Amino acid sequence: MAFKLFKDGNDRYEEGNEYIKRGDFSKARSSLQKSLEKEGGADDVAAVQIALIDMMGNLDNPNVYANLLKNLKSLKSSEFDFGLTHVYRDPLITETELTYRKIGLMNQRAQKKDLEAVSANLQTLAQEFQGQIGDQHLIIQEIFNNDTTVTGTSEFFNLMAVSYEALSDSVVWANPSQAAEYEQIAMGYRQQNGQSGSANDARVRAYSNTCRCWVCGRSASGEGIHFYSAPADISPALANESSAEGTNKNRAEDNKHIYICRACYSSISNRADEIAYGYHQKSMAEMRAMEARIQAQIAALEREISTVRMMSRS
Ligand SMILES: [Zn+2]
Repeated sequence: MAFKLFKDGNDRYEEGNEYIKRGDFSKARSSLQKSLEKEGGADDVAAVQIALIDMMGNLDNPNVYANLLKNLKSLKSSEFDFGLTHVYRDPLITETELTYRKIGLMNQRAQKKDLEAVSANLQTLAQEFQGQIGDQHLIIQEIFNNDTTVTGTSEFFNLMAVSYEALSDSVVWANPSQAAEYEQIAMGYRQQNGQSGSANDARVRAYSNTCRCWVCGRSASGEGIHFYSAPADISPALANESSAEGTNKNRAEDNKHIYICRACYSSISNRADEIAYGYHQKSMAEMRAMEARIQAQIAALEREISTVRMMSRS
């Protein structure tokens, strides 16, 4: 029986695939890399497998999708195995392209810039997930998260929800009741996707909540944005003169909070900051003066000690 002293490209490839099946991806990568170097090429399955291994723990990085896409597009065979998953090249190309765009849009959404344009692009992308992948599950989620519940359709619902949340963010500053409507729509998409939508629901309630400012009497909608609830001591007599109900409410039912519009709130907190800063400066100056006095006393004591030492030596 011939004993093979040197492994050729095919041996390395087989070895790499064994390591993938065992879940030892760093050894798999090294074997596949050697297989490529010996007799592989960019059109090789090993090149795609390496690109897939490099995605691990890095699924939010758009570069790994760009790299996978480049390798998939030069791959000659139309299907291959990755561990126990049998993968078809063309559906994975579609999924990779769409996911690459998704990550770019989600990053833009997180930066809160051009939210209306981002929202429109998210909706276009959502429809492409629905139309091009539909009820098929996402291969990358299966490979890396062992999750076959994420489909083109579930991505559609998810991205539609995100797009309406982006729209809500874009208008809440100027028009909180419109923002509440967008959050309502987003909640519908999240619920169709099996989520509770409770965060949307909380925003719907906050954005559509209206009060009358305790301080200036103006009406304001959008709790946490255009008005705040501030801790206060409301005596029974004052409670009688105020209201905790409807859109005219100016205090909370517990009699421990008043509602206060953003303008009054910011003016009071700015003034409070100025006063606190003044006290801070004053106490820092006093501490520095005290430190100087103590240092002077220490220096005087040290001089006395060294005099005593000299006297005792002589
Ligand atoms: Zn006010």
